[in-house]
Amino acid sequence: MLAIRPTCENCDKLLPNTSNEAMICSYECTFCKDCVDQVLKNVCPNCGGGFEKSPTRPSGQLLKYPPQKEKVLKPVAINSFLEKNINVDLRER
Ligand SMILES: [Zn+2]
Ligand SMILES: [Zn+2]
Repeated sequence: MLAIRPTCENCDKLLPNTSNEAMICSYECTFCKDCVDQVLKNVCPNCGGGFEKSPTRPSGQLLKYPPQKEKVLKPVAINSFLEKNINVDLRER
């Protein structure tokens, strides 16, 4: 099941389930849209993959399957994944 994380891993911005700004990679690393576009250039700093918009869970199911409470905060420094993938199409990484 998809982990709906509460915040952006880079800037700590709140990303509630209803947010239109939450972006995830295939491993559910979660960042806000501003960080994905402007800081990460669509390269996940943890795995090198690209991002897609995170889906919103229907509100009626949140009681049974609530969003994750623990946040991940790991501000991004330029690293090898970013350097290697920043100019490579995300389907060819
Ligand atoms: Zn952010
Ligand atoms: Zn990732």
